[in-house]
Amino acid sequence: MGTPICLVGIGKIAVDEHVPSLNASADWDLAATVSRAGTVDGVPAFTDFDRFLDERPEVRVVSLCLPPVPRYDYAAKAIAAGRHVMLEKPPGATLAEVQALQAQAEAAGVVLFTTWHSRMAAGVAGAKAWLAGQQLDALHITWREDVRKWHPGQDWVFEPGGMGVMDPGINALSILTEILPAPVFLRSATLQFPANRQTPIAADLQFSGGVTADFDWRQTGPQTWGMKARTAVGEMELADGGATLLINGETQDVGPNREYPALYDRMAALVKSGQSDIDLAPMVHVADALTLGRREIVADFDF
Ligand code: NAP
Repeated sequence: MGTPICLVGIGKIAVDEHVPSLNASADWDLAATVSRAGTVDGVPAFTDFDRFLDERPEVRVVSLCLPPVPRYDYAAKAIAAGRHVMLEKPPGATLAEVQALQAQAEAAGVVLFTTWHSRMAAGVAGAKAWLAGQQLDALHITWREDVRKWHPGQDWVFEPGGMGVMDPGINALSILTEILPAPVFLRSATLQFPANRQTPIAADLQFSGGVTADFDWRQTGPQTWGMKARTAVGEMELADGGATLLINGETQDVGPNREYPALYDRMAALVKSGQSDIDLAPMVHVADALTLGRREIVADFDF
């Protein structure tokens, strides 16, 4: 029997990825859920988090699949109750609240894991190894998807703290900050805000070191999640969200793509060793873009 774990926020990503990954893992036993409306067949369901914390003291690990704005309060309560905590991406609504959680977790002696599922994509480790020690000439990210498909009816993505197109864009930035041989920083950005919304639906970012990014949430049809890098010795391309790696046009054998299973493997190892894994680098770039970005108003967006 695996380690008991509780999933909190039974919505799209919990159902699509977390539940199947936990069910397929020998490390974990999905022992409870907390959600106001969502449940998982056969798993004891709570609608109130405090009640779960009081009544299920043997469940030492919680995985929070809520949107970023409500997540801090749940994480702080869990840590105060001595639970190890796994955070969906982006790890919070602000940088400072995640830093506060880090301090709380350290003081409580529990593990905190800021997950970045795209970093676990099959081609990412190979891309990092290929770029290591190289001088980057240029890298361009194209991250274009259909918000109606991936966030159907989720108005929170367009509310303050929902981050708009930065919600998928941060996945690209999580890969970027993992694979680059040297860090970069944002120099300028243009953000397109629908006239009726609070967060951007598209963004163009220019970083130091020849790195650029194009994020767009209005792409219908085939979805594009990729990046191409050029160095003195050739070209590297990550496609399919990092699942496919090409070096100088040749597809590399990178094995199966198992992003969420790999996150839960990592959490199992962290809990075993008692170590946290907290990295805010992707979110720093998002915060910088929202600070520095030039604003353009575009057509209203409705689901
Ligand atoms: P979602 O379906 O809209 O929300 C997940 C669940 O969180 C909801 O079902 C809801 O459950 C609960 N929730 C929502 N607002 C809440 C609030 N104010 N207070 C308490 N609970 C609340 O969102 P999602 O697509 O699963 O995304 C959740 C997180 O996963 C986000 O950070 C997102 O970036 C990340 N993610 C999403 C995707 C994707 O493709 N959608 C992919 C990767 C990562 P109850 O109403 O039942 O309580």
